[in-house]
Amino acid sequence: KTWSQAGLSKKVMDVLKKNDYEKPTPIQAQGIPVILSGRDMIGVAKTGSGKTLAFVLPMMRHIADQHELEDTDGPIAIIMAPTRELCLQIGKECRKFAKPLGLRAVCVYGGTGISEQIAELKRGAEIIVCTPGRMIDMLAANSGRVTNLVRVTYIVLDEADRMFDMGFEPQVMRIIDNVRPDRQCVLFSATFPRQMEALARRILIKPVEVQV
Ligand code: AMP
Repeated sequence: KTWSQAGLSKKVMDVLKKNDYEKPTPIQAQGIPVILSGRDMIGVAKTGSGKTLAFVLPMMRHIADQHELEDTDGPIAIIMAPTRELCLQIGKECRKFAKPLGLRAVCVYGGTGISEQIAELKRGAEIIVCTPGRMIDMLAANSGRVTNLVRVTYIVLDEADRMFDMGFEPQVMRIIDNVRPDRQCVLFSATFPRQMEALARRILIKPVEVQV
């Protein structure tokens, strides 16, 4: 499998080349075409599999397509992750590809002051990478004037098993309930226990399952 089979834009291909990402990993080779087709997806993959780029690369295409449609403000993609560390790591990967495309990714996570994150978001962002609890706070901040989810059409739940083990289910559901129903949703998890299946059924529509 090669990158040229994945259906990515020239600018994205340039970043892949510059970073010596020579060829897609198995989760990327199998997951990217599914996500680009617009289907919801469950990816069962661990850290180190290259799962981040599996949802980041098709996200860039999704955003570019949506961006042309509307000229309102607000993020188009929201990525939820269990910890601040993972949030920052995803944000870093996002920016490598977002920058050359003129897109902005902002990280929103707890355990630190909110005002700087508010200022950053107010300057505008097409992508939010967040931990669920702080994102709820952010949506309520300044009487809801900091950001909104009206334009969101791409949701990622990364390390979903960890996120639910840590008790973030109510916050995740509250965020998702505020996103329009015609969104695309991608869920990544290292494990896929029974209770996750029930939850996934509530969030995803006819998901394609990809396991590596
Ligand atoms: P992840 O599983 O997403 O946390 O990625 C693990 C590591 O693999 C990260 O350091 C990525 O930068 C790197 N990586 C992701 N995709 C590729 C690829 N196709 N080729 C080489 N390295 C990659």
